[in-house]
Amino acid sequence: MIRFDHISKQYRGTNRPALGDVSFEVQRGEFVFLVGASGSGKSSCLRLMLKEERPTKGKIHVLGQDLGAISSRKVPYFRRNLGVVFQDFRLLPNKTVYQNVAFTLQVIGKSRGYIQEAVPDVLKMVGLDGKAQRMPHELSGGEQQRVAIARAVVNKPQILLADEPTGNLDPATSAGIMAVLERINAGGTTVVMATHEAHFVDQMKKRVIELSQGQIVRDERHGGYGVTAAIPLVKQAVAPEPENVTLATGVVVPVVPAAAAPSEAAVQDVAAPAAQISAPDEPIRDNVRPITSALNLPEVLAVQHTPQHPAEISLAARLGLRANGTDGGDFEDQNVGPVK
Ligand code: ADP
Ligand code: MG
Repeated sequence: MIRFDHISKQYRGTNRPALGDVSFEVQRGEFVFLVGASGSGKSSCLRLMLKEERPTKGKIHVLGQDLGAISSRKVPYFRRNLGVVFQDFRLLPNKTVYQNVAFTLQVIGKSRGYIQEAVPDVLKMVGLDGKAQRMPHELSGGEQQRVAIARAVVNKPQILLADEPTGNLDPATSAGIMAVLERINAGGTTVVMATHEAHFVDQMKKRVIELSQGQIVRDERHGGYGVTAAIPLVKQAVAPEPENVTLATGVVVPVVPAAAAPSEAAVQDVAAPAAQISAPDEPIRDNVRPITSALNLPEVLAVQHTPQHPAEISLAARLGLRANGTDGGDFEDQNVGPVK
């Protein structure tokens, strides 16, 4: 599903490669943690998977496609198969929760009827039932990240890439986010999550690929963060000791007791772990949609919503959704900025 063959990446103007001869393969349906200290190359790996960067050496295959062979013009279509979540949420501040999530579907020309069904479904799945008309600033950090996750998966991508999605959240809130990601993975979506937070990695017993200075130093099937972890647990100094709670998903996650929780936001998120997210009867995505579907459907050409605001256009580009009329240039030349 994702294959790196002897990938090296050296950024212009640097004298040390960010990644040096990295090879690994991620199978369909896997949940993989990419761990390592700051600067070890995690974000670079994710950007390479998205074809936001090109490798200096080596070949990358994603969903059976050689990324080196995808033309700039086809990159937005390729990206429709990948959902992306960032540490800093990146919501459109002047749009409601509903509009933020609908945005993805509008840009690729989905019908209003489709959007009206899909958006409430995905909001429910991420635990945001009843919050559709809120503005981002009316939400806690954990809730904002849930919106960003809803936006990333509403188009049923085959792969979800998450770059430090809990990096700005306290441990209790993060536990809720991890439960959502686990639910998405259980629905068949392959998840690759970059993090340096040992807690979840240790608890979730998923595959762990550890990078150190651009090299893979560990690739463990059911790993914890392990003794090689160079980074201490984050925010432990300000947060009370979490208790381990077993969620309905079978995952043991640390949850800070509500009475001692450090913030209102944390309390809100403790109240909505996976156990309380109403379980949809069906997986949230079908696993068999071919990558070429986005390329073949005439609907992708009939863009109904053309982002006008620079922030919308830039976001559309990041999400792999090109606005109508902005095609024609080299994608890499657009103002998409690096993944932090
Ligand atoms: P991580 O996400 O693990 O913190 P990154 O992939 O962001 O690591 O960075 C790996 C290395 O590459 C670091 O040394 C970083 O400074 C460097 N790097 C990342 N992006 C760029 C860039 N756009 N230009 C130059 N150097 C970069
Ligand atoms: Mg990073």
